[in-house]
Amino acid sequence: MYRLFYDTIKGGDYRAREANVHRLAEVSASIIDQCVAQGVPFARDYGGMLDNRSFGGTQVSRTFYARGQTGQQLLLGAYSALNRQISKKQVQSFTRHEMVELVMVDGKARGIIAKNLVTGELERHSAHAVVLASGGYGNVFYLSTNAMGSNVTAAWKAHRHGALFGNPCFTQIHPTCLPQAGEYQSKLTLMSESLRNDGRVWVPSRVEDAQAIREGRLKASDLGEDRRDYYLERKYPAFGNLVPRDVASRAAKEVCDAGHGLPLPDWPSFWILKMPYGALGVRRFRPATGTSLRCTRRSPEITRTKLP
Ligand SMILES: Cc1cc2nc3c(=O)[nH]c(=O)nc-3n(C[C@H](O)[C@H](O)[C@H](O)COP(=O)(O)OP(=O)(O)OC[C@H]3O[C@@H](n4cnc5c(N)ncnc54)[C@H](O)[C@@H]3O)c2cc1C
Repeated sequence: MYRLFYDTIKGGDYRAREANVHRLAEVSASIIDQCVAQGVPFARDYGGMLDNRSFGGTQVSRTFYARGQTGQQLLLGAYSALNRQISKKQVQSFTRHEMVELVMVDGKARGIIAKNLVTGELERHSAHAVVLASGGYGNVFYLSTNAMGSNVTAAWKAHRHGALFGNPCFTQIHPTCLPQAGEYQSKLTLMSESLRNDGRVWVPSRVEDAQAIREGRLKASDLGEDRRDYYLERKYPAFGNLVPRDVASRAAKEVCDAGHGLPLPDWPSFWILKMPYGALGVRRFRPATGTSLRCTRRSPEITRTKLP
């Protein structure tokens, strides 16, 4: 528990509220048990026990996972549990509705005005208490992995009625996020973070090499180990490629700003990932990464070539 608390505080740039993080560490094991009970198919070892893997921001293997689809499997488990409550009439669900205003009575939130997005009708909902769980607001920055509905309007309405607004810049730039693949794409794609465990990130050490690759005069695969800069392993030897996400993203931006970035895929011996910042070569594969690779193959930005 101490380790989870410590890593989360440190990985959160010492900006998290310690009491909340402590509570998170206390209840995290029970949350995994609850997810299992809800049907989340976490990976298991050959003895049948829940398996663990390494993850960004921690130096011990303690992350429960479901191959490269943990987040989606958690969602499916949550949807199932919610639907069970809906069928038991404990929860009433209003899909395709957007909250457009908060109703205040004597300085207290007592309801919301919602828009039916199918009919356009405005509806009133009264309540003893109002909880807004409207998520982050990455779409404020145009493209994001957030749901398209996560557009800060709900939080903004609450703020206009006096709710305090903290940390508006607390937005994550994810180190395994793929750039937009075309104009038809309204959201960004997140590659499985398991690629950070199983792969190594590098850029050409010399700017001239990066320039030559960008101009098609050289192939990245021609660069030997002595001409590669595994910048995360160099800068953060204790964590390597598994530094916390913000640290990894900042370091990638730094090497690209310095001219070492490789926007074009040119790596015949690797799975090739076209990334705006830096390049990621996945050297060896474990079965656990299979799903994420299948998933990334669909993107036109990604080319698969023969493994050596
Ligand atoms: C690709 C991806 C993978 C992830 N993988 C993991 C993982 O493996 N493990 C992990 O712990 N975390 C993971 N995360 C992070 C985690 O999913 C999020 O931190 C978490 O879902 C946020 O929960 P939330 O309830 O605060 O908001 P959200 O899940 O974003 O929910 C907010 C909801 O509110 C709705 N909404 C917004 N505004 C309005 C409005 N005005 N009216 C009505 N509805 C509105 C939105 O449509 C949305 O459905 C992942 C995130 C992404 C994008």
